[in-house]
Amino acid sequence: AVPLVTAISTTLGARNGLLIRDRRGLEEARNLDTVVFDKTGTLTLGAHRVVEIVAAQGKDPDVALSLAAAVERDSEHPIAQALLKSAEEKGIGLPPSSEFQSAAGKGVEALVEGRRFAVGGPALLRERTVTLDQNMENASRRIGENGQAAIYLLEGDVVLAVFAIADQVRPESRAAVAKLQSMGIEVIILTGDSEAVARSVGRDLGIETVFPGVLPDQKSDKIKELQAQGRRVAMVGDGVNDAPALVTADVGVAMGAGTDVAVEAGDVVLVRSDPRDIARIVTLSRATYRKMI
Ligand code: ADP
Ligand code: MG
Repeated sequence: AVPLVTAISTTLGARNGLLIRDRRGLEEARNLDTVVFDKTGTLTLGAHRVVEIVAAQGKDPDVALSLAAAVERDSEHPIAQALLKSAEEKGIGLPPSSEFQSAAGKGVEALVEGRRFAVGGPALLRERTVTLDQNMENASRRIGENGQAAIYLLEGDVVLAVFAIADQVRPESRAAVAKLQSMGIEVIILTGDSEAVARSVGRDLGIETVFPGVLPDQKSDKIKELQAQGRRVAMVGDGVNDAPALVTADVGVAMGAGTDVAVEAGDVVLVRSDPRDIARIVTLSRATYRKMI
């Protein structure tokens, strides 16, 4: 038989857009004081678009795009999807690529026409001793200030182009954050993305604390650090790279539209992928477990 409290919370959960996968997570939710959000695909739609291409001196932006898209062909990252879609929309064909490799939280590499190219963000740049010409240096700064991601096409240590890739904040995110804050819960952004992009989204949503540049295998360590401060922490995420942090958190919350790996790691799934439903978890938890005692 299904215990009554389980049946009730399951029904109420379903009515509130919540799929309760582990009841212990729901029970913990009433004690939360911190909610940590992944950024891409969670606070934002994860529907990225290429909005600008700045090629190095003497290089052609369309050729740079075709190379970058060829390198990204086998990647499922939203940034890869943006590059592939942009090439397709411009009717730019892709040269064949092979030996695809991905470095989590950094970027991807592949062999294109016998040359080895890499595509990735600031973490990839830091790994190599690259020099940006003045034009690309200025472009990088401007892209960051606009809250867009700067993604680089490299051959060895040479930067051939920088792409400005824009994401959009989910229309529901602002209300979701404000509601949690009004309940006395601190909201934090945890992301692999750069500090500039994280701060820009934070500014938009009224979130002061951001942990940027966190590599996938470090996300759960950040949750442990917060727990070591005595906090009760929920983690909200959508990606494969969020799964360990979802498991570590006191309450793991997965976006319904997220990857299977994330959904399976969550205690609670937001069926509608609406971040406003997180406050409902807390409310439901408080109501359910108050009645029990
Ligand atoms: P998030 O935590 O925001 O979901 P990820 O950990 O997936 O972000 O990625 C972090 C950063 O690594 C991205 O912002 C980007 O700079 C770089 N990156 C990761 N995968 C790719 C890729 N396929 N192509 C280009 N850049 C990538
Ligand atoms: Mg994500």
